[in-house]
Amino acid sequence: MFSVDKIRLDFPILERLIHGHPMSYLDSTATTQKPVQVLNALDDYYRRYNANVHRGLYLLSEEATEAYEEARKKVARFIGARHSSEVIFTRGTTESLNLVASTWGTANLKPGDEIVTTELEHHSNLVPWQMLAQRTGAVLRFIRLAEPGVLDISNIGGIITNRTKIVAFAHVSNALGTINPVKEIIAAAHAVGAIVVLDGAQSVPHMPVNVVDLDCDFMAFSGHKMLGPTGIGGLYGKAALLDAMPPYQGGGEMIDDVQLERSTYKPAPAKFEAGTPDIAGAIGFGAATDYLTTLGMENVRAHEKSIVTYALEAMSNLDDIDVYGPRDDRGGVVSFNIRSVHAHDTAQVLDEFGVAVRAGHHCAQPLMRWLKVPSTVRASFYVYTTTDDIDRLVGALHKVKELFAGVAHT
Ligand code: PMP
Repeated sequence: MFSVDKIRLDFPILERLIHGHPMSYLDSTATTQKPVQVLNALDDYYRRYNANVHRGLYLLSEEATEAYEEARKKVARFIGARHSSEVIFTRGTTESLNLVASTWGTANLKPGDEIVTTELEHHSNLVPWQMLAQRTGAVLRFIRLAEPGVLDISNIGGIITNRTKIVAFAHVSNALGTINPVKEIIAAAHAVGAIVVLDGAQSVPHMPVNVVDLDCDFMAFSGHKMLGPTGIGGLYGKAALLDAMPPYQGGGEMIDDVQLERSTYKPAPAKFEAGTPDIAGAIGFGAATDYLTTLGMENVRAHEKSIVTYALEAMSNLDDIDVYGPRDDRGGVVSFNIRSVHAHDTAQVLDEFGVAVRAGHHCAQPLMRWLKVPSTVRASFYVYTTTDDIDRLVGALHKVKELFAGVAHT
Protein backbone atom coordinates (compact mmCIF):
# COMPACT_ATOMS: atom_id res chain seq x y z
CA MET A 1 0.00 0.00 0.00
CA PHE A 2 1.29 3.44 -0.92
CA SER A 3 0.75 5.84 1.97
CA VAL A 4 2.72 9.07 1.80
CA ASP A 5 2.23 9.67 5.54
CA LYS A 6 3.70 6.27 6.32
CA ILE A 7 6.53 6.75 3.81
CA ARG A 8 7.51 10.06 5.41
CA LEU A 9 8.16 8.31 8.74
CA ASP A 10 11.08 6.53 7.03
CA PHE A 11 12.83 9.83 6.23
CA PRO A 12 14.25 11.38 9.41
CA ILE A 13 15.49 14.49 7.61
CA LEU A 14 11.93 15.54 6.78
CA GLU A 15 11.36 16.31 10.48
CA ARG A 16 13.79 19.22 10.32
CA LEU A 17 12.57 22.74 10.71
CA ILE A 18 14.04 25.24 8.23
CA HIS A 19 14.12 28.84 9.47
CA GLY A 20 11.39 27.80 11.93
CA HIS A 21 9.14 26.28 9.24
CA PRO A 22 8.37 22.66 8.41
CA MET A 23 10.67 21.58 5.60
CA SER A 24 9.20 21.21 2.11
CA TYR A 25 11.96 19.55 0.17
CA LEU A 26 11.11 20.15 -3.48
CA ASP A 27 14.48 19.40 -5.10
CA SER A 28 14.35 15.65 -5.59
CA THR A 29 15.39 15.96 -9.23
CA ALA A 30 18.78 17.18 -7.98
CA THR A 31 19.03 14.50 -5.31
CA THR A 32 16.55 12.61 -3.16
CA GLN A 33 16.38 12.16 0.59
CA LYS A 34 17.28 8.76 2.05
CA PRO A 35 15.06 6.42 4.06
CA VAL A 36 16.30 4.70 7.23
CA GLN A 37 16.39 1.41 5.33
CA VAL A 38 19.18 2.82 3.13
CA LEU A 39 20.96 4.53 6.05
CA ASN A 40 20.88 1.25 7.99
CA ALA A 41 22.28 -0.73 5.06
CA LEU A 42 25.27 1.67 4.89
CA ASP A 43 25.75 1.62 8.64
CA ASP A 44 25.49 -2.15 8.83
CA TYR A 45 28.16 -2.62 6.17
CA TYR A 46 30.64 -0.31 7.91
CA ARG A 47 29.88 -1.61 11.40
CA ARG A 48 29.65 -5.34 10.72
CA TYR A 49 31.38 -6.51 7.55
CA ASN A 50 33.55 -3.74 6.09
CA ALA A 51 36.21 -5.40 3.89
CA ASN A 52 37.34 -5.16 0.30
CA VAL A 53 35.45 -7.18 -2.28
CA HIS A 54 36.57 -9.97 -4.63
CA ARG A 55 39.86 -10.34 -2.78
CA GLY A 56 40.18 -11.71 0.75
CA LEU A 57 39.67 -15.34 1.58
CA TYR A 58 38.09 -14.55 4.91
CA LEU A 59 34.55 -14.23 6.19
CA LEU A 60 34.23 -10.43 6.19
CA SER A 61 35.42 -10.12 2.61
CA GLU A 62 33.13 -12.96 1.53
CA GLU A 63 30.18 -11.21 3.16
CA ALA A 64 31.08 -7.87 1.57
CA THR A 65 31.50 -9.51 -1.86
CA GLU A 66 28.18 -11.31 -1.53
CA ALA A 67 26.37 -8.12 -0.52
CA TYR A 68 28.01 -6.14 -3.35
CA GLU A 69 27.05 -8.71 -5.97
CA GLU A 70 23.58 -9.11 -4.46
CA ALA A 71 23.15 -5.34 -4.86
CA ARG A 72 24.06 -5.69 -8.54
CA LYS A 73 21.35 -8.34 -8.91
CA LYS A 74 18.81 -6.07 -7.21
CA VAL A 75 19.61 -3.15 -9.48
CA ALA A 76 19.54 -5.42 -12.56
CA ARG A 77 16.13 -6.80 -11.54
CA PHE A 78 14.86 -3.28 -10.88
CA ILE A 79 15.54 -2.20 -14.48
CA GLY A 80 14.55 -5.56 -15.99
CA ALA A 81 18.02 -6.53 -17.27
CA ARG A 82 18.38 -10.15 -18.35
CA HIS A 83 21.67 -10.68 -16.48
CA SER A 84 23.25 -8.88 -13.54
CA SER A 85 26.55 -8.84 -15.51
CA GLU A 86 24.88 -6.26 -17.77
CA VAL A 87 24.93 -3.75 -14.88
CA ILE A 88 28.17 -1.88 -14.21
CA PHE A 89 28.48 0.16 -11.04
CA THR A 90 29.70 3.68 -11.76
CA ARG A 91 29.70 6.99 -9.86
CA GLY A 92 26.42 7.94 -11.48
CA THR A 93 24.74 8.97 -14.71
CA THR A 94 27.56 11.32 -15.69
CA GLU A 95 30.24 8.67 -15.38
CA SER A 96 28.06 6.08 -17.12
CA LEU A 97 27.59 8.35 -20.15
CA ASN A 98 31.29 9.23 -20.24
CA LEU A 99 32.14 5.53 -20.05
CA VAL A 100 30.11 4.75 -23.17
CA ALA A 101 31.49 7.75 -25.05
CA SER A 102 35.10 6.88 -24.11
CA THR A 103 34.92 3.16 -24.83
CA TRP A 104 32.26 2.22 -27.38
CA GLY A 105 32.40 5.69 -28.91
CA THR A 106 36.16 5.91 -29.37
CA ALA A 107 36.35 2.33 -30.65
CA ASN A 108 33.53 2.66 -33.19
CA LEU A 109 33.34 6.23 -34.51
CA LYS A 110 35.23 7.60 -37.49
CA PRO A 111 35.22 10.99 -39.20
CA GLY A 112 31.84 11.81 -40.75
CA ASP A 113 29.84 9.43 -38.54
CA GLU A 114 26.98 11.14 -36.75
CA ILE A 115 25.90 11.32 -33.14
CA VAL A 116 22.31 12.40 -32.59
CA THR A 117 21.21 13.98 -29.34
CA THR A 118 18.56 16.58 -28.44
CA GLU A 119 18.11 20.20 -27.48
CA LEU A 120 16.79 19.40 -24.00
CA GLU A 121 19.66 17.30 -22.68
CA HIS A 122 21.37 17.68 -19.34
CA HIS A 123 24.97 18.74 -19.98
CA SER A 124 26.03 15.24 -18.89
CA ASN A 125 24.40 13.87 -22.01
CA LEU A 126 25.78 16.52 -24.30
CA VAL A 127 29.35 17.42 -23.34
CA PRO A 128 30.71 13.81 -23.49
CA TRP A 129 29.35 13.53 -27.06
CA GLN A 130 30.89 16.89 -27.99
CA MET A 131 34.23 15.63 -26.67
CA LEU A 132 33.81 12.34 -28.57
CA ALA A 133 33.01 14.23 -31.78
CA GLN A 134 36.14 16.36 -31.32
CA ARG A 135 38.27 13.24 -30.74
CA THR A 136 36.97 11.22 -33.65
CA GLY A 137 35.84 13.73 -36.27
CA ALA A 138 32.23 12.62 -35.86
CA VAL A 139 29.44 15.17 -36.32
CA LEU A 140 26.69 16.10 -33.84
CA ARG A 141 23.07 16.42 -34.94
CA PHE A 142 20.09 17.43 -32.85
CA ILE A 143 16.42 16.66 -32.41
CA ARG A 144 14.95 20.11 -31.77
CA LEU A 145 12.26 21.32 -29.43
CA ALA A 146 8.75 22.43 -30.26
CA GLU A 147 6.11 24.07 -28.07
CA PRO A 148 5.46 23.51 -25.21
CA GLY A 149 8.88 21.94 -24.58
CA VAL A 150 8.55 18.59 -26.35
CA LEU A 151 10.85 17.00 -28.91
CA ASP A 152 9.83 17.51 -32.52
CA ILE A 153 10.17 14.06 -34.06
CA SER A 154 8.13 14.86 -37.17
CA ASN A 155 11.30 14.76 -39.30
CA ILE A 156 13.17 12.13 -37.34
CA GLY A 157 14.09 10.22 -40.52
CA GLY A 158 15.93 13.33 -41.72
CA ILE A 159 17.98 13.52 -38.51
CA ILE A 160 18.63 9.86 -37.73
CA THR A 161 20.07 8.52 -40.99
CA ASN A 162 22.41 5.76 -42.10
CA ARG A 163 25.31 8.01 -41.06
CA THR A 164 24.06 7.91 -37.44
CA LYS A 165 26.06 5.67 -35.12
CA ILE A 166 24.81 6.82 -31.70
CA VAL A 167 21.47 8.24 -30.57
CA ALA A 168 21.75 9.57 -27.00
CA PHE A 169 18.79 11.18 -25.26
CA ALA A 170 17.02 11.61 -21.95
CA HIS A 171 13.98 9.48 -21.19
CA VAL A 172 12.62 12.33 -19.00
CA SER A 173 13.86 15.93 -18.95
CA ASN A 174 15.24 17.11 -15.60
CA ALA A 175 14.42 20.74 -16.37
CA LEU A 176 10.86 20.48 -17.75
CA GLY A 177 9.67 16.99 -16.83
CA THR A 178 8.95 16.22 -20.51
CA ILE A 179 8.56 12.49 -21.07
CA ASN A 180 10.15 11.80 -24.43
CA PRO A 181 8.75 9.45 -27.12
CA VAL A 182 11.35 6.87 -26.21
CA LYS A 183 10.05 3.94 -28.24
CA GLU A 184 9.71 5.95 -31.45
CA ILE A 185 13.25 7.33 -31.17
CA ILE A 186 14.70 3.91 -30.35
CA ALA A 187 12.89 2.37 -33.33
CA ALA A 188 14.26 5.10 -35.64
CA ALA A 189 17.80 4.51 -34.31
CA HIS A 190 17.66 0.76 -34.68
CA ALA A 191 16.17 1.04 -38.17
CA VAL A 192 19.51 2.55 -39.32
CA GLY A 193 21.71 0.30 -37.15
CA ALA A 194 22.62 3.02 -34.59
CA ILE A 195 22.99 2.25 -30.89
CA VAL A 196 20.80 3.98 -28.32
CA VAL A 197 22.20 5.47 -25.13
CA LEU A 198 19.33 6.36 -22.84
CA ASP A 199 19.79 8.84 -20.00
CA GLY A 200 17.51 7.28 -17.40
CA ALA A 201 18.49 9.65 -14.55
CA GLN A 202 14.95 11.03 -14.31
CA SER A 203 12.93 8.02 -15.43
CA VAL A 204 14.35 5.04 -13.52
CA PRO A 205 13.60 6.67 -10.10
CA HIS A 206 10.08 7.74 -11.05
CA MET A 207 8.33 5.19 -13.26
CA PRO A 208 8.52 1.52 -14.22
CA VAL A 209 11.48 1.18 -16.63
CA ASN A 210 12.36 -2.09 -18.31
CA VAL A 211 15.45 -2.10 -20.51
CA VAL A 212 14.45 -5.27 -22.38
CA ASP A 213 11.02 -3.86 -23.18
CA LEU A 214 12.55 -0.51 -24.26
CA ASP A 215 15.31 -2.29 -26.17
CA CYS A 216 17.85 0.45 -25.39
CA ASP A 217 21.48 -0.58 -25.88
CA PHE A 218 22.83 1.36 -22.91
CA MET A 219 21.11 3.17 -20.06
CA ALA A 220 22.65 5.45 -17.45
CA PHE A 221 21.15 6.21 -14.03
CA SER A 222 22.12 7.52 -10.57
CA GLY A 223 21.57 5.96 -7.14
CA HIS A 224 21.28 9.27 -5.31
CA LYS A 225 18.25 10.28 -7.41
CA MET A 226 16.35 7.18 -6.30
CA LEU A 227 16.76 7.17 -2.49
CA GLY A 228 20.28 5.71 -2.62
CA PRO A 229 23.60 7.23 -1.53
CA THR A 230 25.64 9.70 -3.57
CA GLY A 231 28.68 8.42 -5.46
CA ILE A 232 27.02 5.33 -6.93
CA GLY A 233 25.08 4.75 -10.13
CA GLY A 234 24.60 2.27 -12.87
CA LEU A 235 25.28 1.66 -16.51
CA TYR A 236 23.20 -0.98 -18.22
CA GLY A 237 24.64 -2.33 -21.45
CA LYS A 238 23.59 -5.23 -23.64
CA ALA A 239 25.94 -8.17 -23.01
CA ALA A 240 27.19 -8.40 -26.61
CA LEU A 241 28.12 -4.70 -26.67
CA LEU A 242 29.89 -4.84 -23.30
CA ASP A 243 31.84 -7.91 -24.39
CA ALA A 244 33.11 -6.19 -27.53
CA MET A 245 34.01 -2.88 -25.83
CA PRO A 246 37.49 -1.93 -24.65
CA PRO A 247 37.89 -1.20 -20.91
CA TYR A 248 37.32 2.25 -19.43
CA GLN A 249 40.01 2.62 -16.77
CA GLY A 250 42.94 0.30 -16.15
CA GLY A 251 43.85 -1.01 -12.71
CA GLY A 252 43.17 -3.67 -10.16
CA GLU A 253 40.17 -5.99 -10.39
CA MET A 254 39.56 -5.49 -14.10
CA ILE A 255 42.45 -7.66 -15.26
CA ASP A 256 42.78 -11.31 -16.11
CA ASP A 257 46.52 -11.56 -16.64
CA VAL A 258 49.13 -8.80 -16.45
CA GLN A 259 52.48 -8.94 -18.21
CA LEU A 260 54.94 -6.06 -18.13
CA GLU A 261 54.03 -5.01 -21.66
CA ARG A 262 50.35 -5.92 -21.91
CA SER A 263 47.35 -7.32 -20.09
CA THR A 264 44.18 -9.25 -20.70
CA TYR A 265 40.93 -8.31 -19.06
CA LYS A 266 38.11 -9.92 -17.16
CA PRO A 267 34.67 -10.07 -18.79
CA ALA A 268 32.01 -7.47 -17.92
CA PRO A 269 31.13 -6.14 -15.45
CA ALA A 270 34.60 -6.45 -13.83
CA LYS A 271 36.29 -5.15 -17.01
CA PHE A 272 34.67 -1.76 -16.34
CA GLU A 273 35.15 -1.59 -12.58
CA ALA A 274 38.85 -0.92 -12.05
CA GLY A 275 39.95 -0.36 -8.45
CA THR A 276 38.05 -0.63 -5.19
CA PRO A 277 34.42 0.19 -5.93
CA ASP A 278 31.99 2.13 -3.77
CA ILE A 279 31.01 -1.00 -1.85
CA ALA A 280 28.82 0.69 0.73
CA GLY A 281 27.24 2.82 -1.99
CA ALA A 282 26.30 -0.24 -4.04
CA ILE A 283 24.81 -1.95 -0.99
CA GLY A 284 22.84 1.21 -0.16
CA PHE A 285 21.72 1.44 -3.80
CA GLY A 286 20.44 -2.14 -3.59
CA ALA A 287 18.51 -1.25 -0.42
CA ALA A 288 16.97 1.74 -2.24
CA THR A 289 15.72 -0.51 -5.05
CA ASP A 290 14.22 -2.82 -2.40
CA TYR A 291 12.41 0.15 -0.89
CA LEU A 292 11.04 1.33 -4.25
CA THR A 293 10.07 -2.20 -5.28
CA THR A 294 8.06 -2.57 -2.08
CA LEU A 295 6.25 0.69 -2.85
CA GLY A 296 5.69 -0.41 -6.46
CA MET A 297 6.88 1.79 -9.30
CA GLU A 298 3.37 2.07 -10.77
CA ASN A 299 2.32 3.57 -7.41
CA VAL A 300 5.32 5.91 -7.35
CA ARG A 301 4.39 7.21 -10.80
CA ALA A 302 0.69 7.55 -9.85
CA HIS A 303 1.61 9.51 -6.71
CA GLU A 304 3.86 11.91 -8.60
CA LYS A 305 1.23 12.36 -11.30
CA SER A 306 -1.34 13.37 -8.70
CA ILE A 307 1.11 15.76 -7.00
CA VAL A 308 2.17 17.39 -10.27
CA THR A 309 -1.48 17.77 -11.34
CA TYR A 310 -2.26 19.36 -7.97
CA ALA A 311 0.73 21.69 -8.27
CA LEU A 312 -0.07 22.81 -11.83
CA GLU A 313 -3.66 23.48 -10.80
CA ALA A 314 -2.63 25.42 -7.68
CA MET A 315 -0.05 27.44 -9.60
CA SER A 316 -2.51 28.27 -12.37
CA ASN A 317 -4.33 30.42 -9.78
CA LEU A 318 -1.30 32.68 -9.45
CA ASP A 319 -1.00 35.46 -11.96
CA ASP A 320 2.32 36.82 -13.22
CA ILE A 321 3.76 33.35 -13.41
CA ASP A 322 5.16 31.53 -16.45
CA VAL A 323 5.06 27.75 -16.15
CA TYR A 324 7.17 25.88 -18.71
CA GLY A 325 6.83 22.45 -20.25
CA PRO A 326 4.03 20.10 -21.18
CA ARG A 327 0.70 20.50 -19.41
CA ASP A 328 -0.20 16.81 -19.35
CA ASP A 329 1.84 13.70 -18.95
CA ARG A 330 5.02 15.04 -17.44
CA GLY A 331 7.35 13.78 -14.73
CA GLY A 332 7.16 15.23 -11.21
CA VAL A 333 8.77 18.53 -12.16
CA VAL A 334 7.41 22.07 -12.47
CA SER A 335 9.72 24.73 -13.90
CA PHE A 336 8.51 28.32 -13.69
CA ASN A 337 9.34 31.99 -13.21
CA ILE A 338 7.51 34.72 -11.38
CA ARG A 339 7.50 37.50 -13.96
CA SER A 340 10.07 40.23 -13.34
CA VAL A 341 11.57 38.39 -10.36
CA HIS A 342 14.89 36.62 -10.86
CA ALA A 343 14.70 32.86 -10.28
CA HIS A 344 17.44 33.07 -7.61
CA ASP A 345 15.50 35.73 -5.70
CA THR A 346 12.37 33.59 -5.80
CA ALA A 347 14.28 30.56 -4.52
CA GLN A 348 15.87 32.58 -1.73
CA VAL A 349 12.52 33.87 -0.48
CA LEU A 350 11.03 30.37 -0.69
CA ASP A 351 13.89 29.10 1.48
CA GLU A 352 12.95 31.59 4.17
CA PHE A 353 9.61 29.77 4.33
CA GLY A 354 11.22 26.32 4.47
CA VAL A 355 10.60 25.52 0.80
CA ALA A 356 13.70 24.11 -0.94
CA VAL A 357 13.70 24.49 -4.72
CA ARG A 358 16.37 24.77 -7.35
CA ALA A 359 16.93 27.90 -9.41
CA GLY A 360 19.29 28.20 -12.36
CA HIS A 361 19.84 26.64 -15.76
CA HIS A 362 19.55 23.09 -14.39
CA CYS A 363 22.59 21.99 -16.42
CA ALA A 364 20.52 22.48 -19.57
CA GLN A 365 21.74 25.75 -21.07
CA PRO A 366 20.64 24.98 -24.66
CA LEU A 367 17.12 24.33 -23.33
CA MET A 368 17.16 27.66 -21.41
CA ARG A 369 18.14 29.39 -24.67
CA TRP A 370 15.18 27.76 -26.39
CA LEU A 371 12.93 28.99 -23.54
CA LYS A 372 14.57 32.43 -23.93
CA VAL A 373 15.24 32.72 -20.20
CA PRO A 374 18.56 32.56 -18.33
CA SER A 375 17.12 30.42 -15.57
CA THR A 376 13.97 28.96 -14.05
CA VAL A 377 12.78 27.97 -10.61
CA ARG A 378 12.20 24.24 -10.42
CA ALA A 379 10.06 22.39 -7.91
CA SER A 380 10.41 18.62 -8.13
CA PHE A 381 8.61 15.86 -6.33
CA TYR A 382 9.03 12.32 -5.10
CA VAL A 383 7.49 9.58 -2.97
CA TYR A 384 7.48 11.74 0.18
CA THR A 385 5.98 14.89 -1.38
CA THR A 386 2.57 15.90 -0.02
CA THR A 387 -0.11 18.36 -1.11
CA ASP A 388 0.86 20.29 2.06
CA ASP A 389 4.30 20.82 0.50
CA ILE A 390 2.62 22.24 -2.59
CA ASP A 391 0.35 24.47 -0.49
CA ARG A 392 3.43 25.81 1.32
CA LEU A 393 5.13 26.42 -2.03
CA VAL A 394 2.14 28.34 -3.40
CA GLY A 395 1.72 30.28 -0.13
CA ALA A 396 5.38 31.29 -0.25
CA LEU A 397 5.06 32.28 -3.93
CA HIS A 398 2.35 34.74 -2.91
CA LYS A 399 4.88 36.19 -0.43
CA VAL A 400 7.47 36.49 -3.21
CA LYS A 401 5.00 38.45 -5.29
CA GLU A 402 4.04 40.70 -2.37
CA LEU A 403 7.64 41.32 -1.48
CA PHE A 404 8.76 42.20 -4.99
CA ALA A 405 5.63 44.21 -5.77
CA GLY A 406 6.53 46.22 -2.64
CA VAL A 407 10.07 46.77 -3.89
CA ALA A 408 8.77 47.94 -7.26
CA HIS A 409 6.47 50.50 -5.59
CA THR A 410 9.08 52.11 -3.35
N1 PMP B 1 20.94 13.50 -16.72
C1 PMP B 1 19.83 13.99 -16.15
C2 PMP B 1 18.55 13.99 -16.94
C3 PMP B 1 19.88 14.47 -14.85
O1 PMP B 1 18.77 14.95 -14.27
C4 PMP B 1 21.11 14.45 -14.15
C5 PMP B 1 21.22 15.04 -12.75
N2 PMP B 1 20.54 16.24 -12.56
C6 PMP B 1 22.23 13.91 -14.78
C7 PMP B 1 22.10 13.45 -16.06
C8 PMP B 1 23.54 13.82 -14.08
O2 PMP B 1 23.44 12.93 -13.01
P1 PMP B 1 24.62 12.80 -11.94
O3 PMP B 1 24.94 14.19 -11.50
O4 PMP B 1 24.02 11.96 -10.86
O5 PMP B 1 25.76 12.14 -12.63
